[in-house]
Amino acid sequence: MVVLDIGGTKIAVARWVKGALRDRKQIVMPAGEGEWRSAIQSIAEAFPDAGRLGVAVTGSTDGHTIKAINQNVISYWNGYPLAPFLQELWGCPVFLLNDAQAAAWGEFVASGRRPKNLLFITLSTGVGGGLVLNGGLFMGHLGLAGHVGHVSSSVKALDGDSLCGCGRLNCLETVASGAALSRQATHITGANMDAAAVFAGFHAGDPTCLRIISTAALAVAHQIADAHATLGLEEVRIGGSVGLAAGMIETIVAAQKSLPLLFQVPVRRAALQADAGLIGVGHWVDQMETSL
Ligand SMILES: [Zn+2]
Repeated sequence: MVVLDIGGTKIAVARWVKGALRDRKQIVMPAGEGEWRSAIQSIAEAFPDAGRLGVAVTGSTDGHTIKAINQNVISYWNGYPLAPFLQELWGCPVFLLNDAQAAAWGEFVASGRRPKNLLFITLSTGVGGGLVLNGGLFMGHLGLAGHVGHVSSSVKALDGDSLCGCGRLNCLETVASGAALSRQATHITGANMDAAAVFAGFHAGDPTCLRIISTAALAVAHQIADAHATLGLEEVRIGGSVGLAAGMIETIVAAQKSLPLLFQVPVRRAALQADAGLIGVGHWVDQMETSL
């Protein structure tokens, strides 16, 4: 099998052989549709004879088409016929899965002890998530289940109400994503700051950066508490460049202490990091075939 991970910033590809990645390659996600199609065609030529193609992809999918949840991410993905396009290139069956759901399944399999109910949250440029319930990946209608990035946050961003790229107001993504950290810091200080600069300030003890990170962490802690109240979570795994930045998980765990004990779910670091989508979709296609 060949596995692909198509995100807002990169395309990763590898062969999936006996539960492991081989020949992993990565390119920057091209901006326009024409360049993107050419890039995928080149990948298909470099990774022929797939047999099956497992695709972890950002956005909402019905297994055939793809729609960006945040329309600022990939503007031409609004019902784009992704599976037929890939099927024609590779000439084999194509399986599409939302990338955060793929990562959730990868983390579940990698965890070894396999908690029955697990929520995976990726805090990155955006915020995504996936759910494993009763030991199975819960995809929901159009692959949207577990997408906590677009659940309203009771903890507001420090620069006031914020319209999310999905069209809703004050989603978790507007408070705790890398883009949100950068936006708040830039608004408050007047200087152009990216998420890395906010974390640098956080570690240096800068009061504004401390407030921004602790607000983001509190928003995540409340989102976990809400998900736990609805679903009864056993464990939460946090990944993504912001989630895995030094001090972030510790700040989330500290924020959980302000909540009643009943809502303090164990939070752990994601194990698979940048390969979570590729590994997750590989395991997912494997287990689908064995369950048929
Ligand atoms: Zn949103």
